[in-house]
Amino acid sequence: MSIAGGPHTAFARGEKSGCTAIQIFTKNQNRWAAKSLDDAEIAKFDTERERTGIFCFAHAAYLPNLASPDKALWRKSIEAMKVEMERCDALGLPYLIFHPGSHISDTRKNGVERVARSLRELYDSGNFSVALTLEITAGQGTNLGNSFEELAEIIRLSGVGGLLKTCYDTCHAFAAGYDIREKGDYENTWREFDEILGIDKLAVIHLNDSKHDLGSRKDRHEHIGKGYIGLDGFRNIMNDDRLSNIPMVLETPKGLNTRDGSDIDMDKVNLKTLRELVND
Ligand code: MN
Ligand code: MN
Ligand code: ZN
Repeated sequence: MSIAGGPHTAFARGEKSGCTAIQIFTKNQNRWAAKSLDDAEIAKFDTERERTGIFCFAHAAYLPNLASPDKALWRKSIEAMKVEMERCDALGLPYLIFHPGSHISDTRKNGVERVARSLRELYDSGNFSVALTLEITAGQGTNLGNSFEELAEIIRLSGVGGLLKTCYDTCHAFAAGYDIREKGDYENTWREFDEILGIDKLAVIHLNDSKHDLGSRKDRHEHIGKGYIGLDGFRNIMNDDRLSNIPMVLETPKGLNTRDGSDIDMDKVNLKTLRELVND
């Protein structure tokens, strides 16, 4: 949900679309700097959360790269993540979801080690409550984190695994090769997830269909039921008792460019599609 006008405004937007959980950026996601949160904004945020009863967590900006082989960029990334963790704690947000990073010119192994070291350094640098939450990625380019094993390796090497959580993105995982469409494949995927990462470490699910096929390693989100995953995959998730307490949010495109220019709230449409999949 957009935070244009201040983080507290996200709750009313979520309310309007019929959300029970929302994800926000705590700052402009395309900028390094952020103006600090004042007490008035924090108070308004608390009031709106209380009023709407909507569960809220954060996604980190896209600029930081904790795997960066460039020393200066890595340092800048650490400092930026610290600021985001402070903002999450100020707003009382339980999770800060982030993409592990890109190893760029360096080896994959060095990238993995650098992310792990970053996580330790971040928790060593302050007494943070927010759980850094590693999101599975599609594995585009040199992006790390497109397998349960690699996420588990980062968590293990960090030495602060007890403080970390994970986020399952249906589009990313599908693009990374994890199938959830047929019941058998669905069960295999979650059995692997549980064995390698543990369902108890799962904090959040991102519900997105995929514009590209299984294993494509392309990160392009599609409206629910309109992509290669299709309704069967989402029906499996919506009826899985193991996931019934996991907050789930959409990261699908917001508006539809209708021919007559009318404004359709696609979050509403996608939520309705998902809720209709629940068996009574
Ligand atoms: Mn993400
Ligand atoms: Mn995602
Ligand atoms: Zn994505």
